[in-house]
Amino acid sequence: MTTTEGDAEVFAFQAEIAQLMSLIINTFYSNKEIFLRELISNASDALDKIRYESLTDPSKLDGGKDLHIKIIPNKNDRSLTIIDTGIGMTKADMINNLGTIAKSGTKAFMEALQAGADISMIGQFGVGFYSAYLVADKVTVHSKHNDDEQYVWESSAGGSFTVRVDTEEPLGRGTKIVLHLKEDQTDYTDEKRIKEVVKKHSQFIGYPIKLFVEKERTKEVSDDEEEEEDKEKKEEDKDKPEVEDVGEDEEGDKPDKKKKKSIKEKYTDEEELNKTKPIWTRNPDDISQEEYGEFYKSLTNDWEDHLAVKHFSIEGQLEFRALLFAPRRAPFDLFENRKKKNSIKLYVRRVFIMENCEEIIPEYLNFMRGIVDSEDLPLNISREMLQQSKILKVIRKNLVKKCVELFEEIAEDKENYKKFYEQFGKNLKLGIHEDSTNRKKLADLLRYYTSASGDEPCSLKDYVSRMKENQTQIYYITGESRDQVANSAFVERVRKRGFEVVYMVEPIDEYCVQQLKEYDGKQLVCVTKEGLELPEDEEEKKKLEEDKAKYENLCKVMKDILDKKVEKVVVSNRLVSSPCCIVTSQYGWSANMERIMKAQALRDNSTMGYMAAKKHLEVNPDHKIIEALKLKADADKNDKSVKDLVMLLFETALLSSGFSLEDPAVHGSRIHRMIKLGLGIDDDGEPEVAEAVTEEMPPLEGEDEDASRMEEVD
Ligand code: ADP
Ligand code: MG
Repeated sequence: MTTTEGDAEVFAFQAEIAQLMSLIINTFYSNKEIFLRELISNASDALDKIRYESLTDPSKLDGGKDLHIKIIPNKNDRSLTIIDTGIGMTKADMINNLGTIAKSGTKAFMEALQAGADISMIGQFGVGFYSAYLVADKVTVHSKHNDDEQYVWESSAGGSFTVRVDTEEPLGRGTKIVLHLKEDQTDYTDEKRIKEVVKKHSQFIGYPIKLFVEKERTKEVSDDEEEEEDKEKKEEDKDKPEVEDVGEDEEGDKPDKKKKKSIKEKYTDEEELNKTKPIWTRNPDDISQEEYGEFYKSLTNDWEDHLAVKHFSIEGQLEFRALLFAPRRAPFDLFENRKKKNSIKLYVRRVFIMENCEEIIPEYLNFMRGIVDSEDLPLNISREMLQQSKILKVIRKNLVKKCVELFEEIAEDKENYKKFYEQFGKNLKLGIHEDSTNRKKLADLLRYYTSASGDEPCSLKDYVSRMKENQTQIYYITGESRDQVANSAFVERVRKRGFEVVYMVEPIDEYCVQQLKEYDGKQLVCVTKEGLELPEDEEEKKKLEEDKAKYENLCKVMKDILDKKVEKVVVSNRLVSSPCCIVTSQYGWSANMERIMKAQALRDNSTMGYMAAKKHLEVNPDHKIIEALKLKADADKNDKSVKDLVMLLFETALLSSGFSLEDPAVHGSRIHRMIKLGLGIDDDGEPEVAEAVTEEMPPLEGEDEDASRMEEVD
């Protein structure tokens, strides 16, 4: 809703933004200096945007060709002004971007703060602008975009802001932010303090940052001149430098000589604060880890250093330099909205071209940060041209290779790699799914818990080194959690035979393993799928054949009862303590995959039918239940209780094999019938048998518990 106030329109901040602003204003927080980093970073982004537009349309720079950032402190009116000649904002931009449309980061940031995050993380959540209110109680934003008039936004927080046409000094193009500093924040009008903060957080910004500084110079003037100047001064505007008397020269020996005076005058000068050459053009040997860290932070808005860096150049037919950083944490929205954006900035011969260039790096590496500076691309390249560019394809191939090398380097340090893997393990798995060229190398980087790994996850290489002599395959199981798979009947059998099983418990593992298929020449075999053959001796083979013959009839009866619910019923030697289990066919979904697919809210249900796991029921020939069932079925295959028991066994096997039941209510009522049977209750609900039991028991002391204890003793 808007109202007007004089010539200004008044807008209410979107609720979450208002909440965030009051948090920023009211939270006690000492590290306020980061506001400057955020505002400079916004200025730099705005400059990037206009530069990119001007590549294809030079007239976009008609409002001013010089691309820079200026910082102007003013002690007298306690303000700090930051000016950029970037793209600027239209009136609509101001209304949308500075107050009425909340980004997903607004809420996420407040939640992070509550969870103990630091305010300096603000930039990563895309709400850095509001950090201005750490030091200012009023912020005024003047802005001129090529497509609109110059407007001014203003707010003293408190839930609302105003926007009106700007009648002050024209900007040409760009944005001028005036911070009206809080009483206790006058520090930020101090030249030394500003220099310190810019050096710390913004020294690697790619545009000149110019600080207005007050300087003094001594000047000799004669008395006459001075008088003249005095007159002029009154006539001219205030912009003239202030002149201060600093005392007269001692009277000269020669009386005829005109009296001379030396005075000190104050004037303002611009000092460039970030004169360092782009860091990637320097020799890696001369760059310290601290410098890389500072560069990384200014590039990414991250509040802590990178985890690892790769700085390299490629020469020959094609020439480029690159700096690649692996961050310590995944951004909060890494896998949100299938966002295709990546964070590698593209430069051509030191000129920034664009960020998020899709062609430069594959999606699974979208967490990597850095820059690429090409010597070969044309400066006026457009996004369309980039899609076709062969040069870019070569750059991409090299970047991927270097990223993998970097991961291998990180893997040399176990602790570091653990952190890295926690954050980006999913990306590596996605890479195995998508990137056939690098699949082998990426597979070396995987880490899994296994039935033999203990508390530290291990690599597939470790697994292979532990393989039994007669073992030719790598066994794995997919499922919901480490505990669940470790206790499953499938794993039981394989372990019992002395083989190790890899536990794959992330949804993405299902996709990853579909493509991986083998490692080091050894086939990856899922223990929950049909056709699992453990190396076995002649005796075992013989026994299995005998069991198959023995249970042929039972299997047929069971298949008839279960009908379409299962593909087939077979005797298996993969079970130890369970009577039966359900395996899935080689090429269909596993139980775990079925669970994952069912959980995907937006998926199309039509594939459920043919992709749904094809189930095989395997029975354990050595299990008492199966032996007894065989006797019952052999005696009378139409026995009603056989049907009931088979259904119950099947449903229980579904559950313990990781499937969900299609009709839990039916299963429930079957179980209740069993419970009644156990308690001796007949179908109309009368506990008739129970009475009979009571007769034999000593008198009750009044507690039900005793009754059940008595039964146990029985
Ligand atoms: P982010 O920079 O992550 O987008 P911010 O809260 O820092 O988030 O800024 C919000 C938005 O306000 C920016 O995306 C941009 O559209 C706009 N903005 C802020 N500062 C400037 C500026 N100096 N020039 C142009 N637009 C700006
Ligand atoms: Mg920002």
